[in-house]
Amino acid sequence: MGRMQTALALIDVDSGTVTTADLETAQFPVEDLAIHRGEGIFETVLVSVDPASGSTRIHSEEPHFARFQQSAAMLDLPAPPRELFDEAVATVIAEVVGSLEESVTEFSVRYAMSRGLDSHADLSAHRSVGTPARARGWAFPIAVAPAQRAQRTDGVRVVTLDRGYDAYLGEKAPWLLIGAKTLSYAVNQAAARHAVAQGADEALFVSHDGLVLEGPTSNLVILRGDTLLTPDPRAGLLHGTTQRAVFAGAEAAGLSTEYADLTVEDVVDADAAWLVSSVRTAVPVVAVNGRPVARDLDATSRLHAWVRAV
Ligand code: PLP
Repeated sequence: MGRMQTALALIDVDSGTVTTADLETAQFPVEDLAIHRGEGIFETVLVSVDPASGSTRIHSEEPHFARFQQSAAMLDLPAPPRELFDEAVATVIAEVVGSLEESVTEFSVRYAMSRGLDSHADLSAHRSVGTPARARGWAFPIAVAPAQRAQRTDGVRVVTLDRGYDAYLGEKAPWLLIGAKTLSYAVNQAAARHAVAQGADEALFVSHDGLVLEGPTSNLVILRGDTLLTPDPRAGLLHGTTQRAVFAGAEAAGLSTEYADLTVEDVVDADAAWLVSSVRTAVPVVAVNGRPVARDLDATSRLHAWVRAV
């Protein structure tokens, strides 16, 4: 993902302030728990720009912030102050739009919040368990890479990888933070590299007991007849804002939608399958473990439109 702009908005949750800074300058004390424990949460939103008016739209803005709040609660972080994050995101968007080339009609903004400084934790307890004094937030822009845009039409070949836990484990093991969007993405990154090393474009996580879960940064949606299906978030995955936008659009168009337990065979046998996520929107899955998956160009266009409609 390319660096498009050096705008950075920093949020001091305690003092309730938003300041701008330069993305290329060091900002974080190394003691911050986001840096060395991955203790923090984030969201990445897609922003569309109308080239004629320069006006912008943050897609699925409310579901993203609602999930951010939910992730904060799951990590026992302070509730992220809405007005500060709105201000930070708006600041970043304004900076980007002020310097955009005319041809750019979309970019993304990532916002995040860390637990804060380790040194403020109660050292008599386990480090990083306390609630340190200075949660901090930040927001910055990321360009949509040409390769990401290309995938929306070209699609991706996936390989399935064992996620290492059984489906529905999260309900019994909340400390695994399954379903929270945390800054601990090293496993997801490793899975993506592993898939590429195997000659594929993407990983598709499967539970240890054989249910399809999600990609490292995306959800799976399949088409079967007139029904769109996606794995049940309770099975052990992040409940995607894009998947929800796709379902809303499909239902409005008269298709049925279903959260279901799906296997790899269900994906291979589908009438079409996509990885859906905020920035790439909907990417056709063209092969699973080297086995071809049917494509539906018309349905893909509809998914793209549904994601942009909210
Ligand atoms: N699953 C994981 C693990 C993700 O990281 C993401 C997004 O980055 C998604 C699913 C898709 O979520 P969304 O559609 O809200 O971007």
